[in-house]
Amino acid sequence: MIDAFITREKMIKACLLLAEKKLVQGTGGNISVRTEQGFLITPSGIDYNDLSLSDMVELSLKGEIIKGERTPSVEKEIHRMIFELREDVNAIVHTHSIYATAIASARRDMDAITDNQIVIFGGNIRVAQYAPIGSKELAANIAMALGDGYGALLANHGGICVADTLKEAMFRAEMLEIFAKTFILAKSAGGGIPLSDAEIHTVNTDVRKRYGQKKL
Ligand SMILES: [Zn+2]
Repeated sequence: MIDAFITREKMIKACLLLAEKKLVQGTGGNISVRTEQGFLITPSGIDYNDLSLSDMVELSLKGEIIKGERTPSVEKEIHRMIFELREDVNAIVHTHSIYATAIASARRDMDAITDNQIVIFGGNIRVAQYAPIGSKELAANIAMALGDGYGALLANHGGICVADTLKEAMFRAEMLEIFAKTFILAKSAGGGIPLSDAEIHTVNTDVRKRYGQKKL
């Protein structure tokens, strides 16, 4: 379960950070965090600069509003379905960042052409089949593309990152855009060479163990 320190205030700060880092434009994108009873999600169509704590809407895992006056994000079904299917996920960040959206609009998977992508996302980042915004079909397509990974692209739309914490999901959202940029630049440099399944496995099982600091 999510730690108690992640609050509505942290969600607002994260929204402002998404705008500042140009990972969303206007009122686009959305953020959600798991709660005891369901999840908190950003409201639909409110400028991030105008967000207040009470604008966040709490929904149950069945999609019913538990708390909040605002209309929740139109993409709430995506968040609901991921929280339902992935018990390890406590935070979701959906972005419309330019490079990731460009690859998503080409309906291409972002194969792991750097080992850094494997360390942060677990491997290849798949593009979910297109379906209308807000539809259950789109949510199901995204859940399928995500699998047990940490990121996916939404065809002709944007990207989505999931994590144990909001901080980690925000980091992945930023890295998704960096890897997308690298992916596109590698194409113009002669083509990125995707790492093989065996190489991905090695990074996931070996390098990951040695990377970073030991938990104290
Ligand atoms: Zn969107």
